[in-house]
Amino acid sequence: MIDRTSCTCSSCCGRCHRRPGFATPGEIRALIDAGHGAALMVEWWRPDWVPDSEPAAELLAVAVEGRESNVAAIHPVGRCTFLDADERCSVYELRPVECAFTRAPA
Ligand code: SF4
Repeated sequence: MIDRTSCTCSSCCGRCHRRPGFATPGEIRALIDAGHGAALMVEWWRPDWVPDSEPAAELLAVAVEGRESNVAAIHPVGRCTFLDADERCSVYELRPVECAFTRAPA
């Protein structure tokens, strides 16, 4: 079991301003089950060496603000849709494991 504490300092949310953390399929399922499905976006990947190719992989991801229920930009950067007005994670109990362990000061 992963021991998560709390979202109480602004430095931990520094990266939340630049890009949402990646979530596992199980974490995405938990967000959908909790009613946050509309806050997700379709993230995609295609090989850089094949210009204009179709995406080789697509997955649901936590959205960059403004991309909710939409497709991610080619290099998605921006504030996470779950970062609230107080600069705290609004889905702290459900936040992706990448957020729990790699969010660090900017
Ligand atoms: S889900 Fe929460 S911790 Fe993860 S990037 Fe978004 S606001 Fe930050």
